[in-house]
Amino acid sequence: MMKVGILALQGAFAEHKQSLCSIGVDSFEIRQKKDIEQPFDGLIIPGGESTVIGKLLRKLDLLEPLKSMIENGMPVFGTCAGLIILAKNVEGEESHIGTMNITVKRNAYGKQIDSFSDTAVIEKVSPNPVPLVFIRAPWIESAGDGVEILCELNGHIVAARQENMLVTSFHPELTKDTAFHKYFADIIKNSSETPAVRAV
Ligand code: GLN
Repeated sequence: MMKVGILALQGAFAEHKQSLCSIGVDSFEIRQKKDIEQPFDGLIIPGGESTVIGKLLRKLDLLEPLKSMIENGMPVFGTCAGLIILAKNVEGEESHIGTMNITVKRNAYGKQIDSFSDTAVIEKVSPNPVPLVFIRAPWIESAGDGVEILCELNGHIVAARQENMLVTSFHPELTKDTAFHKYFADIIKNSSETPAVRAV
């Protein structure tokens, strides 16, 4: 049975647990280094405040171990602040885990419209329109080699994938729609068919 670790240092981690639960995927919270000693098949980095999550990742000595797991093929899904944590480049700031070949702009929608929602059909993910909830969201300013763009909204990239890494600048876990969590579970299923990729 598949098991997903949800980084639970700060932010919207409980909602991810609920989304996974509703599609029958088992999960647990990662709060300290010993939590990642157990075997697991995928990782979620939730929304919240990327500067706080980044600081805690370093303080708790979780940044390097998680980074090397991801580099070794551990499937990871980052939403909003989680996307920022995974980005190789963060405009004007230091990066954190930095494994995904994207440049992100934090709080890109500005103060005027810091939260909004929309819908989009994201063909790779679901045949039905997916609700998109943005909260002080980043967008992906540019995507480099190996990055597949899954969704663009008003000319800005808001969902992308690079091999085992999936990111959205919106929050699927704050909606009842489970298309993205199912898509992530499929990434995990397909990667576990080739376990050699993940052997450290
Ligand atoms: N504004 C936050 C940041 O820059 C992200 C917001 C969110 O995760 N909802 O880290």
